[in-house]
Amino acid sequence: MSLTSGIDNQLRDRLGISDPYDFTVWAKKGWLPIGYFCESVPVVMLSLGKLFPVRAHGLTVRATDRADAHLSQVACPYTRSVLETALQGDFDSFGGYIFATGCDHIRRLKDVMDYLFHPVLSHIIDVPHKRSEQALIWLETQIKQFGQILTSTLGVDTREQALSQAISHYNRLCELIDSGNALRKKQPPLLNGLDFQHLIRFVKSSPYEISLSILPEILQEAALQDQKMDHKSRLMVVGSVLDDAEYLKLIEAAGSVVVVDRYCSGSQPVFTKIDETMAPYPALARHVFERTACPRMMSDFNKRVAEILRLSQEFAVDGVMVSPLKSCDLWGVEAALLADILKSHNLPVLQVEREYRLLGESQFQTRVQAFLEIISFK
Ligand code: SF4
Repeated sequence: MSLTSGIDNQLRDRLGISDPYDFTVWAKKGWLPIGYFCESVPVVMLSLGKLFPVRAHGLTVRATDRADAHLSQVACPYTRSVLETALQGDFDSFGGYIFATGCDHIRRLKDVMDYLFHPVLSHIIDVPHKRSEQALIWLETQIKQFGQILTSTLGVDTREQALSQAISHYNRLCELIDSGNALRKKQPPLLNGLDFQHLIRFVKSSPYEISLSILPEILQEAALQDQKMDHKSRLMVVGSVLDDAEYLKLIEAAGSVVVVDRYCSGSQPVFTKIDETMAPYPALARHVFERTACPRMMSDFNKRVAEILRLSQEFAVDGVMVSPLKSCDLWGVEAALLADILKSHNLPVLQVEREYRLLGESQFQTRVQAFLEIISFK
């Protein structure tokens, strides 16, 4: 299904490293990785100076026995997997842990990580759950306080000029990711979901400077390849964090191509440009406030539905997979409501709960194959 040599391989070849997602490579070259655990964190702040943001994942563990002893078994499998990963030492080179009050599972994760690891920098941004001008002001205050903490703990320059420059780099990155999404819009698409997932994972585990230097050529190569992608349907995937590329591989091996990723760890609407005409702190607060696709903003349900409908038209999707993680309260509630409304707009929907790692293939695979068959009859 991959059109080019595979973005995975391209990254390896161009960077000359065996694992393009290994953030410790950059740590050894003088950058300082800062782990973050929720997309509501103002990640641009984590790219100031020699910092770079790393979206924490739990892909190096299978079982979560030790983490289960610290978090309850009803904690979502993402939080249990990242805690297990931290316990096995994979986050030792993080210069800090940054959280947001997106959900109670994340709050609990922070408490446990503080208790176990005593990090030099561990901070939680209190993000609003309601839309109002006061909430926006509160968020701006939170982000400014976080800036002061970065300066006092790590000596980072968080003044307006430094932040404006970081915003400008971030916006350039958004443009590149947009051009990747434009390739997915094509008929047939020029980039499949698996390759795009690899690209986003690389961006979320490397300094922006490195991504900005390497993405243009990779995307240009994808745009110029002339192999036609063989696929029967175009899908959008919506839901909780989806880190395990094996899910994408399985979905696409069944004959579809994922053209829109609207889940926490994906690109929509995470990589949305920040307004450079505004002062940087208010602009960043507005960006975090507006770009959220998270069900924690309960009053924004209709806005999220409208956005999914818009994307389904723009990317000409044949169906939507609404897929929360098991025990994810936020997406668990949202999924059923969302599925009903999308169906009422004549969009075929598969609502399927999943584990963090693709473990038992057969049940998920059977559901996907049945859904794709239904779509093919439409
Ligand atoms: S998957 Fe759900 S429960 Fe887990 S951290 Fe994300 S929003 Fe919270």
